[in-house]
Amino acid sequence: MSGVEIGPTLRVAVPVPLYGGFDYLDLDATDATPIGSRVLVRFGKRRLVGVVLETEVKSDLPRERLRPIEARLDDAPVFDDELLGLLRWAAGYYHHPIGEALATALPVALRRAKTDQTPNRHRGWQAVPSDTANEPVAHAKRQHELLDVIRTGVHPVAHSHLLARFGSIHAPLKALERRGLIEEVDLPGALEQGSAGTAPALTDMQREAVEQLISRGEGFHPTLLEGVTGSGKTEVYCRQMAEVLAANRQVLFLAPEIGLTPQLIERLRTRFDASIGVLHSQRSDGERADVWRAARAGDADIVIGTRSAVFTPMPRLGLIVVDEEHDGSYKQQDGFRYHARDVALRRAQQCDIPIVLGSATPALESLHNADRSRFAHLKLPERATGAAMPPVRVIDIRSRPLLGGLSDPMLAHIERHLTAGNQVMVFINRRGYAPALSCHDCGWIAPCERCDAPLTLHGGGARLQCHHCGAHQNTPAQCPSCGSKQLIALGAGTERVAGALRSRFPDVRLARFDRDSVARKGRLESQLADVASGETQLLVGTQMLAKGHDFARLTCVAVLDVDGGLFSADFRAAEHMAQLVTQVAGRAGRSDLPGEVWLQTRHPEHPLLHRLLSGGYDAFARAALAERREAALPPFGYLCLLRAEAQDIQSPQAFLEQAAATIHSDEQIACWGPVPAPMQRRAGRFRAHLLLHSSTRARLHPALDHWQRVLAELPGARRVRWSIDVDPQDLL
Ligand code: ADP
Ligand code: ZN
Ligand code: ZN
Repeated sequence: MSGVEIGPTLRVAVPVPLYGGFDYLDLDATDATPIGSRVLVRFGKRRLVGVVLETEVKSDLPRERLRPIEARLDDAPVFDDELLGLLRWAAGYYHHPIGEALATALPVALRRAKTDQTPNRHRGWQAVPSDTANEPVAHAKRQHELLDVIRTGVHPVAHSHLLARFGSIHAPLKALERRGLIEEVDLPGALEQGSAGTAPALTDMQREAVEQLISRGEGFHPTLLEGVTGSGKTEVYCRQMAEVLAANRQVLFLAPEIGLTPQLIERLRTRFDASIGVLHSQRSDGERADVWRAARAGDADIVIGTRSAVFTPMPRLGLIVVDEEHDGSYKQQDGFRYHARDVALRRAQQCDIPIVLGSATPALESLHNADRSRFAHLKLPERATGAAMPPVRVIDIRSRPLLGGLSDPMLAHIERHLTAGNQVMVFINRRGYAPALSCHDCGWIAPCERCDAPLTLHGGGARLQCHHCGAHQNTPAQCPSCGSKQLIALGAGTERVAGALRSRFPDVRLARFDRDSVARKGRLESQLADVASGETQLLVGTQMLAKGHDFARLTCVAVLDVDGGLFSADFRAAEHMAQLVTQVAGRAGRSDLPGEVWLQTRHPEHPLLHRLLSGGYDAFARAALAERREAALPPFGYLCLLRAEAQDIQSPQAFLEQAAATIHSDEQIACWGPVPAPMQRRAGRFRAHLLLHSSTRARLHPALDHWQRVLAELPGARRVRWSIDVDPQDLL
């Protein structure tokens, strides 16, 4: 190391499952590595990408035991002070190692040990003025659709946007190019340039909401915007966004996984004369990193993205919108288990800016926050277009035969709407052919060898697959227990329902929407485009269909199974069922055609279902909140779940017992368990839970700080995999 003077000590967050940072020596004494920038360090035998947390550290270790960092990876910090502060808070709140938390927040391309500043190429398309003779022929549907999108607005459209919206676009784009109607251009970066479009005149209720929002001005003002589906919440966000953009501040717009639809992006793109960064699943790692860099540089005026976008650096941030704030996909379910809505709230508070949480079916936590005036509560109880909310009615299927999951009255309703030339959406939250294979003679049910769960039938019943561990096999010809050949498919999933509907309505075009049917890239987009154009009349799908989509001719929504949500070990199951039913119901009758919704149930008298149907989501939520208060469950109590799993059945239980013994239970903090997880064995590992409950957060978090320090040292810790889940969303 001759000639190089090793500098002062740095504390570096390294992506390993250990709490706290690690100390290294800086490379240079005069020109210090900035806080928030990435460095390459040796950790044990590995080389890892870490992030500098502090400089000028007084290390507990003597200098001669410290290693120098191997390299600096950035010229400017990847995390600014604001974001680093947010992530330190989040790592502390969720009791997750800071190095892993920071790595989760980084775009994948920046987690690698490269100083990659090589700009990615960003393709775009723009319209070329041309005489009408070159227009595509009438039946070239996709070409017309693409041309429409490319011609709206004055700026080129990103190739990635067209891909996300339409799926396979290579051939039609080439055809348009050959006709001289469009040309390819290189966009300057990963951002898209939107164009100012016209805004509709607000309804009275929207105007009221907008005035309330804007009158409160800058500063931390959380608002819950509760508006029925179609009430025009997006328009309300847009007005507030316009104010913020006019003040030269940035807007962060979060949407759930399935809510980040091309329609939403298109709406914002044709509305604001602003540069927009989109973080959706169709973008490559390189593009995502480019959006991140552009946002950090302050070049992106609007960033739209899913959960992890909450960690986008935005130096001019002036507003956060969380659309569909109740959505479960905002909570990360493994690793760094943060909740993006809650992190967004903290971020807004830290930046002292407004935040709007919008939903037709707010989470009970958010309603409670509105009740106790932590959030302002604005309501849009009617649809913006004046269309009526569809009536929701039940079909009692007790002792009714089902054909592929469908009762006769349900089929009759579907037929009526199809005959009228309208669209029908059939919703069942279970993919595959049927949820179980059973022996008619002895009652045997095909189990997964590695999980405490039955196997799901797929491929028309030919294959068995486990939805928990992915194991699969061919369906046996006879019962392994009694030898009978009378094996029957129990219940129905999307595949079976779609099959039954296809044979009943052979002339109607049907599309299935579930993880299996839209696995291929672009498939979901092209299927949705066919629904939007009216070609597809019948939709069968899982919750993938629940939100965001706005189809004018959709007049009937059929929900095949709501009973699962009424009887579940998970205390949030009823809330999720009510949200889902309300959301799917909101898909019907969005325009001038009146809609209706039918639910199949075996429990028409169930009090929660009854309340939902008679009083709507609001009445349901009031009753559910009262029940939660009674049981001191969230939002009236705070939970933390300690999970443990191992190859053997005893270790998780033993570890959790040791863990429980380190907690001082008292009247403000209770330890529930350890108990086996509801599905005890998954993928060959046995799982157990220990739940901490407290009536105050102030008591729970010190206990968790203590836990964080002692758990890894417990004798049983080495025999299990364990994790802490703060504010767990499901207890499964
Ligand atoms: P939400 O997000 O609450 O479900 P949207 O913002 O998507 O509702 O609006 C639903 C529909 O109503 C959209 O087609 C939208 O263009 C339309 N819309 C919204 N506001 C108005 C308005 N003020 N006047 C006319 N149409 C509106
Ligand atoms: Zn049998
Ligand atoms: Zn399994």
